[in-house]
Amino acid sequence: MEYSFDFNFSGNPSTHKCEQKVEGDWVIFTCPICKDYERRINLKSREVVVSGAEGNPHQHRGSFIKPGLDNLQCNLN
Ligand SMILES: [Zn+2]
Repeated sequence: MEYSFDFNFSGNPSTHKCEQKVEGDWVIFTCPICKDYERRINLKSREVVVSGAEGNPHQHRGSFIKPGLDNLQCNLN
C-alpha cells in the first residue's frame, strides 16, 4: 500500500518533508521542523486527523509505502 499526501497552502513555496511511523492501523506523519505538526491516517477507515496545522504556513509532504498490498495513492487538500 502506498499513501502519499501533498498538503498545499497557497502562496507559500516552502515544503517540509514529513517523517512517518506506524502505530497499529495508524500512520503518523510528523514534521521535523514544526514540532507540533502531526497528521495521522487510519489505514483501514482512511480517517485523517491533523493537529498543529492551524496557523502553520508551510506545505507538508509525506508518503507511506506498505509492501505486499495494492498500490494506493491519495491526495488531500
Ligand atoms: Zn513543517
